[in-house]
Amino acid sequence: MTVLVFVELTDGRVSLVSREALTFALEIGGDLHAVPLGPVGEDALADLRAHGVAVVHEASAPELSSYGGAIWGAVLDAAVTASGATAVVAPGTPRGTEVLAHLAARRDRAMAANAIAVLSSEPVTVERQVAGGAVLETLPLDADLALLTMAGHAVEPAPAPSPGAAAVQPLDVSFTEADLRARVSHTEPRQGGDTSGLTGAKVVVGAGRGAGGPDGFGDVDRLAARLGGAVGVSRVVTSLGWRPHHEQVGQTGSRISPDLYIACGISGAIQHWAGCQSSKVILAINTDEDAPMVTKATYAVIGDMHEVLPAVLDELG
Ligand code: FAD
Repeated sequence: MTVLVFVELTDGRVSLVSREALTFALEIGGDLHAVPLGPVGEDALADLRAHGVAVVHEASAPELSSYGGAIWGAVLDAAVTASGATAVVAPGTPRGTEVLAHLAARRDRAMAANAIAVLSSEPVTVERQVAGGAVLETLPLDADLALLTMAGHAVEPAPAPSPGAAAVQPLDVSFTEADLRARVSHTEPRQGGDTSGLTGAKVVVGAGRGAGGPDGFGDVDRLAARLGGAVGVSRVVTSLGWRPHHEQVGQTGSRISPDLYIACGISGAIQHWAGCQSSKVILAINTDEDAPMVTKATYAVIGDMHEVLPAVLDELG
């Protein structure tokens, strides 16, 4: 059995979520092949070797100079044929999801988005999140070609038990006119901040409506700085314009998986929970002992965040 993984690159390295997808794919079993989104250098090849990839299918057609979902769907399609893969895994990023959906349409196969666990390999059966993580579904996939994206941070990326050769094989791809119709024509610098600090942070200090207003975040900022972490907020906070949208955690914000999430004055609505449920430890600070964030948290302090946070900062010195 061969499992093909669609791999995104960041600054010449295999991105964190793509390394997670490689670790996830190893759980399916069989040989691991990869299709990188763009040319691979030595650093990316070293990452692929460490994650047990045997073969790297590298496409280098001029049509790939700008991104298009259908274009990369055609590349993956050619790689499935070249590798004989019976399963394809992509990270659950906007591009990973788009490209895999194109592949599913081309091959007329089902696709499971947001898988969090492999339950069995023959046929590939996964557990996946639906309704923003409120519901878990068990889904057996097509036996001849299982297509799935992995929910971000569902597994810890880890090197394979034995490294792979990551032998680069050129991939021949031909494109139809339809494949080339939608593609990126130009890009602009991001407006409104960088979310990478939040999604990769080991500690996140979160705040919601309980902060009371735009001036209620001083101790939240101080605690995040003291712990070397990032600030994350609820949608109420961004909708009211108290903090910028790039700090929002949740279904329509960032998904975080820190070692510690300190959620202050956040009720823990399901849409917020969808973005923070992968946190290893959650400490809720809330005046309401029945708030969902409190009942689901690992630890809780029942009290006013404007009294609890100064006390915590005092204690930390
Ligand atoms: P509230 O629900 O009002 O809770 C405030 C909490 O603060 C309460 O628990 C209260 O007891 C506590 N509190 C009040 N004062 C204090 C104090 N002084 N000290 C301590 N505790 C105090 N929400 C998100 O966060 N992220 C999303 O991505 C997101 N996406 C959404 C998508 C859709 C389609 C929809 C419909 C909703 C979405 N929401 C999202 C909104 C979500 O449903 C909630 O409305 C929101 O998360 C509530 O924010 P909150 O917890 O800050 O406010």
